[in-house]
Amino acid sequence: MEKSKKTTLESPDDPVEACAHFSRLIGGDTNLVLHGGGNSSVKASRPDITGQDRDAIYVKGSGWDMGSLEVPGLTPLDLPRLKELLELGELSDLDMMRELSAAKLDPGSPNPSVETLLHAFIPFRAVQHSHADVIVTLTNLAGMNAPDEVVRDIFGDEVIVIPYVMPGFDLAQEVRKNWTSQFHDETRGMVLLNHGLFTFGDDSQTAYEMHMQLIKKAETWLEKEAPVDSQKENSLPAEILLTDLARLRYQMSNTAGKPMIVRRHTDSEVAGFVQRDDYEDLARRGPLTPDHIIRTKRFPMVGASQESLNLYVQEYESYVEEFRHRIRTEFTEIDPAPRIVLDPEIGMLTAGFTANDAQIAADIYHHTIPVLCRSEDHLGGYKALSAEELFDVEYWDLEQAKLRKSGKPPELSGAVSLVTGAASGIGKACAEELKRLGSAVIGLDLNPEVNKVFAGDDWVGIEADVTKTEEVDAAIKTGVERFGGLDIAVVAAGIFGNSVAIEDLDSEEWRRVMSVNVDSVQSLFGSIGPLLALSPIGGRVAVIGSKNVPAPGKGAAAYSASKAALQQLCRVAALEWAPNKTRVNLVHPDAVFDTGLWNEELIAERASNYGISPEEYKKRNLLSVEVTSKAVARSAISLCTDDFSTTTGASVPTDGGSDRVI
Ligand SMILES: [Zn+2]
Repeated sequence: MEKSKKTTLESPDDPVEACAHFSRLIGGDTNLVLHGGGNSSVKASRPDITGQDRDAIYVKGSGWDMGSLEVPGLTPLDLPRLKELLELGELSDLDMMRELSAAKLDPGSPNPSVETLLHAFIPFRAVQHSHADVIVTLTNLAGMNAPDEVVRDIFGDEVIVIPYVMPGFDLAQEVRKNWTSQFHDETRGMVLLNHGLFTFGDDSQTAYEMHMQLIKKAETWLEKEAPVDSQKENSLPAEILLTDLARLRYQMSNTAGKPMIVRRHTDSEVAGFVQRDDYEDLARRGPLTPDHIIRTKRFPMVGASQESLNLYVQEYESYVEEFRHRIRTEFTEIDPAPRIVLDPEIGMLTAGFTANDAQIAADIYHHTIPVLCRSEDHLGGYKALSAEELFDVEYWDLEQAKLRKSGKPPELSGAVSLVTGAASGIGKACAEELKRLGSAVIGLDLNPEVNKVFAGDDWVGIEADVTKTEEVDAAIKTGVERFGGLDIAVVAAGIFGNSVAIEDLDSEEWRRVMSVNVDSVQSLFGSIGPLLALSPIGGRVAVIGSKNVPAPGKGAAAYSASKAALQQLCRVAALEWAPNKTRVNLVHPDAVFDTGLWNEELIAERASNYGISPEEYKKRNLLSVEVTSKAVARSAISLCTDDFSTTTGASVPTDGGSDRVI
């Protein structure tokens, strides 16, 4: 342990690598920066193609996180040019970003941080910037006479204190104005009120060490003045109905104009917060640092009813109306749906158009709650920026430009899907296809490895036996609480059973096949029907049937009968669920050889029975094509897209063409 600590603090020789290294140390701590927050830079010479050394500054590029920053994420820029830009009297954000882009010394590098000019101004080689929780705690307090008083109490004059100014050209100028009057030989850093901390030095290690020293000092002060209460375990009063959660997601999605991922959080911290008498009041204080507003909106919604949502929307719309005149360029609408919902029974919901967005909002609010409580309980109260200052960040030219530029999201973005048999074969291929189209996926499988089949926030893999209703219901609960509801279900779990003649088929085997292939689907449909009815895009179900439905096979009585019963079950579901806008369709694949049921040896043996090669055997259909899991998945998931919005109760062959079926 001691040894690894020593190694991490050892600085790489190359200054750009050192900058990335110490940025990662800061970014690795979520108490210092979250998701894209913070930035860093280093000034170093850079040889160009003619062999001349150019005076450069490397600044963290947008789209990179501090915690995983690598050298390619540090954009080299022409430092003398940036200094010329600092001499301008004014510079709009859009002009600034264009000039920064033009000053890049490597056109392939990412666009640099909006705080680049500030980094260029700071007369030290290395700079590190974070939004540390302890610093934003100290700089959002309501009770202090002057906003910088507590910062001065703790740090004396060893930090430069800058009043709140929006990041960009104006902030660089504000720092420049304050630098001469506040900087001296003992200066160790700079606190930006309502925003965060900058430290600097001759190298990144020094900037990092200064950062940690100042944060330690703030922590020590807070521990003394505002001790955090002992970790009491809190819990929410009772279980909620999954349909209540799905209904709220339906309403929020309608408000947003597209489906949202809504994740439920019931941890002790959340439970403790929503049980405070003053949580509604605290929830309306505003974000810790302005850039959080893009992820969380200005306030959470309080309460979980349609009425609370109506109120929220009304208030959001009048806030936009009130400050709309402050927008300097074209106005691009942001939907009025909340990103955080707090409720004493539900706990906390975090929402976004992808599972990753919902996760980022959650991470931010999990860091917001303790700061709100600590400030309120021990430090005289929490106070964020004014509504108009927050509006300026939410409707910032640069953010608006980003919204205008963002292309059309994938077709199933924001949708939630459930796939049975998701760990392998057709089920896995369906899950992969759903993810490719932007859906979040709940994967069920007997195989406990199902949780590891995919990585990322848009996947939750749960071990469950489809024949055990309680296991499936528990998995549905976990999945729906993770993503907020259910839009799509793909039934891929199934078994072939033993290949025997009817006289040799014992009833146990018959029941086993029926139980997996039909009974489990009837029970699953019972559980998911009410959830699909609350889908903001209309429920969609795709069921993997079999060619054996229209063309049964000898020795496959149980399998053929079970799949025929399954088809009939689906057709009835299509009839019953049509009024709720839920569509139910099947695909009938045949001879899908890249699944767990087959291996090369078995294929070779079957092929030789017919006196053909394994390759020929795999393509033994009218079109002479191989029917892969992926091909079946593409067909099945197509049925769940808008391309088939007018189709329900249909069975589509995916068998390469069979003269017995046609
Ligand atoms: Zn910042």
